[in-house]
Amino acid sequence: MKIICVMGARPNFVKVAALYRAFSKCPEFSVSLVHTGQHHDDAMYKVFLTQLGLPEPDFSLCIHGGSHTEQTAQIMLAFEKVLSSESPDLVMVVGDVNSSLACALVAAKEGVPLAHVEAGLRSGDKSMPEEINRVLIDHMADGLFVSEEAAVRNLQNEGIPSGKIHFVGNVMIDSLVYCREKAMELPLLNDLGLKKRGYVVLTMHRPSNVDSLAELTLLADLIQALCKIRPVVFPVHPRTKSSLISHGIWGQLENCSGLHLLPPQGYLEFINLISHAALVITDSGGVQEETTFLNVPCVTFRKSTERPSTIGEGTNRLVGDLDVAHALGIITEVLKKEKNQTSLPALWDGLAADRIVQIIQKKYLK
Ligand code: UDP
Repeated sequence: MKIICVMGARPNFVKVAALYRAFSKCPEFSVSLVHTGQHHDDAMYKVFLTQLGLPEPDFSLCIHGGSHTEQTAQIMLAFEKVLSSESPDLVMVVGDVNSSLACALVAAKEGVPLAHVEAGLRSGDKSMPEEINRVLIDHMADGLFVSEEAAVRNLQNEGIPSGKIHFVGNVMIDSLVYCREKAMELPLLNDLGLKKRGYVVLTMHRPSNVDSLAELTLLADLIQALCKIRPVVFPVHPRTKSSLISHGIWGQLENCSGLHLLPPQGYLEFINLISHAALVITDSGGVQEETTFLNVPCVTFRKSTERPSTIGEGTNRLVGDLDVAHALGIITEVLKKEKNQTSLPALWDGLAADRIVQIIQKKYLK
């Protein structure tokens, strides 16, 4: 059976790596990797191939930049050619980025069966580009592979037939389980002069937090206040860096004592950093899940999360408005609290991709 797996942006590489490993154990599957090019440089792409054991993609569409519409349309045009030359039995997309939507649309229009991994997540916030992508992909997919229980209910409430929905667990956690030991061997903390549980890791890249001067000013104020309490490690996403530079705030951060301004980290380095942190502050989807798995406190700068199990069962706490005093109050409270062992969301056990492969064997291989 011929499967095309699509990957475009950083979190996709982590998820596709788990799927690729699982499919590679079964000779009846032949998997081709398509890289759309959404993230394409060494720090956001190449390092993930190397560290996660992914081969060079079979098809590189080399599409990046442009508006959401341009990017989506260009990926569609390029992916249509791949589909007609390859005639796969199944297209598999992961997550909620534009690449996933674009390729899902082409598969649906060409009548090729479509699987969506990480289906059913809903923030309820349509101002997030990812939310639109999630809903549209789910309503086109034939097989919906779900990472947490609330997502099953979301899909049922939207009228998706139960027979298409498969609760399998979290492929992002599969990669974490697979790589954790290797990540722990890195001497990163020594190199940065940090102590275990003695620092805060920060990542921020959602448009609502980093696109406007007002939000960036609040972020810079928060970072400066935070650095007086604990050292802060901030691996800066490229879109955040260019926004900080264009709004004239980058220099202020470069001079902030106690702040480690780093380039985007490789996967192993980043897992090492968050594993030993006292607290992680983020607006990332995946990082909310990884901190829950690692039992590291997480404060998420968003009004809502599509991953409610990270709050109900995990270590996550939402801060809706970037009000510095309010945010600092919550952060100080979290830092003072003894770490409680949380329970893990169901099926976050490192075996989600194997379950997906088994279901595909039953559903599509007759
Ligand atoms: N990540 C990484 N290096 C970094 C920041 C994040 O390897 O400097 C990893 C992180 O461990 C997770 C993924 O990137 O696996 C999350 O990607 P991102 O936050 O860009 O996307 P989102 O999950 O918000 O869609």
